[in-house]
Amino acid sequence: MTEYRSDLTRRTFLRGALAGALAAPGAPALLGAERQSTTTRESTPWYRRAYLWGQTNITEKDPVRYDIDWWRGYWKRTQVQAVIINAGGIVAYYPSKFPLHHRAEFLGERDLFGDLTKAAHADGIFVMARMDSNRTDEDFFKAHPDWFARNASGQPYRAADKYIACINSAYYDQYLPDVLREIIERSKPDGFTDNSWAGLGRESICYCDNCTQKFKAKTGKALPRKADWDDQAYREWIMWSYARRTEVWELNNRTTRAAGGPDCIWSGMNSGSVTAQARSFRDLKEIGARADIMMLDHQRRDDDTGFQQNGDTGKRVHMIAGWDTLAPESMAMYQSGPGYYRVAAKPAAEARMWMIAGIAGGIQPWWHHVAAYHEDRRMYQTAEPVMRWWKTNQHYLVGRTPVASVGLVWSQRNTDFFGRDASPEVVDAPYTGFMHALVRARIPYLPIHADDIERQAAAMTVLILPNVGALAEAQVATIRRFVERGGSLFATGATSLHNEWGDPRPDFALGDLFGCHRTGDVTPGGAPGGRGGSTDPIGAFAPSPSGHTYLRLIPELRARVDGPRAGDEPAIPGPRHAVLSGFEETDLLAYGGSLTPLRVDKGAVVPLTFVPPFPTYPPETAWMREPKTDVPGLVLSEHGKGRVAYMPADVDRRYARDHLPDHARLLGNVIRWTAAGSIPLTVEGTGLIDCHLYQQPGRSVLHMVNLTSEATWRAPLDELIRVGPFKITMPVPAGQTKPRARLLVAGGTPAVEVAGGRASLEIASILDHEVIVLE
Ligand SMILES: [Zn+2]
Repeated sequence: MTEYRSDLTRRTFLRGALAGALAAPGAPALLGAERQSTTTRESTPWYRRAYLWGQTNITEKDPVRYDIDWWRGYWKRTQVQAVIINAGGIVAYYPSKFPLHHRAEFLGERDLFGDLTKAAHADGIFVMARMDSNRTDEDFFKAHPDWFARNASGQPYRAADKYIACINSAYYDQYLPDVLREIIERSKPDGFTDNSWAGLGRESICYCDNCTQKFKAKTGKALPRKADWDDQAYREWIMWSYARRTEVWELNNRTTRAAGGPDCIWSGMNSGSVTAQARSFRDLKEIGARADIMMLDHQRRDDDTGFQQNGDTGKRVHMIAGWDTLAPESMAMYQSGPGYYRVAAKPAAEARMWMIAGIAGGIQPWWHHVAAYHEDRRMYQTAEPVMRWWKTNQHYLVGRTPVASVGLVWSQRNTDFFGRDASPEVVDAPYTGFMHALVRARIPYLPIHADDIERQAAAMTVLILPNVGALAEAQVATIRRFVERGGSLFATGATSLHNEWGDPRPDFALGDLFGCHRTGDVTPGGAPGGRGGSTDPIGAFAPSPSGHTYLRLIPELRARVDGPRAGDEPAIPGPRHAVLSGFEETDLLAYGGSLTPLRVDKGAVVPLTFVPPFPTYPPETAWMREPKTDVPGLVLSEHGKGRVAYMPADVDRRYARDHLPDHARLLGNVIRWTAAGSIPLTVEGTGLIDCHLYQQPGRSVLHMVNLTSEATWRAPLDELIRVGPFKITMPVPAGQTKPRARLLVAGGTPAVEVAGGRASLEIASILDHEVIVLE
């Protein structure tokens, strides 16, 4: 712990020093990265100035065919400042003194890792030694049978022909630190990363003697016999397993710094998916507090999440690790998804857009090839132009602060204990639905961890809570304070309906703010946003049997006389609420989910109600059996200056899955109503554009990523499609009255008009992306 605290102190000091440099009076107009590199270069550790990365993931065959000179040329062409080189773990690429450290099949006596490290250092490039450390050959297992993970019947866990080491064994406490020290003594890499450092995942409980004894000593309990989210022993096993990974993170850092100096850091790789992090016990928040650099192994999109998910990942990791912490991300130059073709080039448009989408969210590009020799040479053409553009414009791509009035709340404990085994459906999909809707609506937002609301959301207007079922009392209290201070909420589904362990509460903890409450007569499978499964006493996320359901648009009811409506005074239909704008020609929206009754507080507005399922087939039967109900699909209320929208309907999840445009429009409308004019950006013009807004001293920076393509949702992308023109209004940089605009991709200086504190300008078109700098 002491090590960790001193490290934090050092980081805090460093951040203070950098901030001071940026704020120095009389500083030149160009700040950020350039200033760091000229005035604080010597005090800035290497991992804060290694912006462009490359990795050739070495195969066992490569020691006899690795053309180091050719790769040095490629490093130079792509401008990389750091490379990742395979050192040891499952396979060693140097002649290790440890006889059981398996040498690459074609290594012989060659020190390929050492040769490459020397070459990189000679070229002024930093080296991160790559470990892949969680499994071994059979001879290792036979020599140390007590270092390996075992199932309930005592058999070792295996992956193909390899044996999985137990994270609680001396393999991690003694053997790996010895290997790290050996590598440092031989070749002095600048740091270490590790691909599979977190050991066995959540799906496999280890019952080895180490785990049995350590868990008993920590909790007084026996290891859980199976995965049972309602069993307190299983819950404690989850938290104990997280804590061990964090301990290994600290142990590895102590080891590498003691042997290699204070900047010889160790930083294991992380995923951009919180569900993937949860399943491998990598706690993003705890890691973000400790990491000097965030190494992301997150190589591609899937069809549900799109390129925009990489921009989201960049924002998420920076919000937890700090915007001055670099976050390089491994970006596959080979075809991965759909399919794995390790030595075939990924279509250039697909690889390029993944890189650009990440850069827009603050990610450092890192090309990634598997094997040192390729017959598909097209893959060597993709990264170079992106890296060169990055290098030319680096002042505007680092050292910047995001600007947003909307926060999208997440927490890994919610993924664990509310999501349980269904987190892709009940946690990830609602979040993703909002992400897509925000991108569609061109509303800048930031991912906010539920424990950081007090610190990070103070200046925000709206918090979105996408089916955040599990909230601890303290988190509920901070959300309450946010509203008391005038903030607005947009919550969906089961938000606040469960405590931090995922146990159901009798009512929403935020029910008074939502303006509605659960009724006592919820039928099984009917609670909003539930996760399903036999362990869930109150809900299921399954759609209604046919999925053939609708939401009915309800006019606001106005009293016959001015003033508040009293008692049973008759009401007349008024105009529809602003959240229904754009739906003037329909009284129904396709929905597809199910809903159950809620008790709505007086004064709350219900602009949408549920139409229960009716047959779709044969068509003669497709008539509504129950056209009108009182079951709310959306409840709106006002609390002081704060506006609260609670949407029991899982429109967020449905948008992630079905992509119905009405769902995006509805979510966007509700966000705009809660934001009440506070959104700092408008962009007019056709196309799907992901907008990231930043500020630097004296400067506004808008990064627009063109996601309009024939493969907007489905990979791989083959062709880029130009869109435009766009009319944009964005914030005027602080202290400026007549800012000038510059385009970092198309070039040119469009005219700027300033009115009402906003700058407006037009750009003709965007092919892949554009960065507008206002200064
Ligand atoms: Zn074990």
